[in-house]
Amino acid sequence: MLELILPRRCAGCGEAGLMLCARCVRQLAGVPFRVTSPVDTLVPVFSMGPYAGAHRGIVLAMKERGNLAVRAYAGSLLDAALAHLEARGEIPEGAGLVPAPTRAASARARGGDPVEAVCRNAGRTTHAVLRLSHAARDQSELSAADRRANLAGRVQCTGVPPGSVVVVDDVVTTGSTLHASVAKLLALGADVRACVTLCAA
Ligand SMILES: [Zn+2]
Repeated sequence: MLELILPRRCAGCGEAGLMLCARCVRQLAGVPFRVTSPVDTLVPVFSMGPYAGAHRGIVLAMKERGNLAVRAYAGSLLDAALAHLEARGEIPEGAGLVPAPTRAASARARGGDPVEAVCRNAGRTTHAVLRLSHAARDQSELSAADRRANLAGRVQCTGVPPGSVVVVDDVVTTGSTLHASVAKLLALGADVRACVTLCAA
């Protein structure tokens, strides 16, 4: 149990010792920046870092079953990034968070959806309303065009979130997952203002 709370290696770089070493903490302290993806996401996308170094390490570690410490830390990073975007006027204050959809089976294998856990750890109102239907294949080995076709119509929404919302995901690559999520929410009348991801690949 203690290991779950105090992992013996840095989640960012793997160095033995603290949950995050001082160098990785500094890397993670950057401000969120605007990202342009190949697929039009319909609303602005902001990312907190590259899919490399400490940011990549955090994303991989938060998918580990039961890595609660890293999910809590990533939640704090997300909250700080959202506060920064609020201060810059990029998103409205107090917008709710909608985790990008994952397949239920993979979420279960990871001990709950890590992106949803990070949203909740950010201390923000979280509406976990998006799901991927069973027909959705694993995205990781598909091209951008195939990803978009694979996702089109397969994002399901279990309820329209009230007020302004921001869609949150761990990584943006082609933008196809965010496009499908935002398009679904907008079609149902939700007020989607932006997407925020931990990393941009
Ligand atoms: Zn480190």
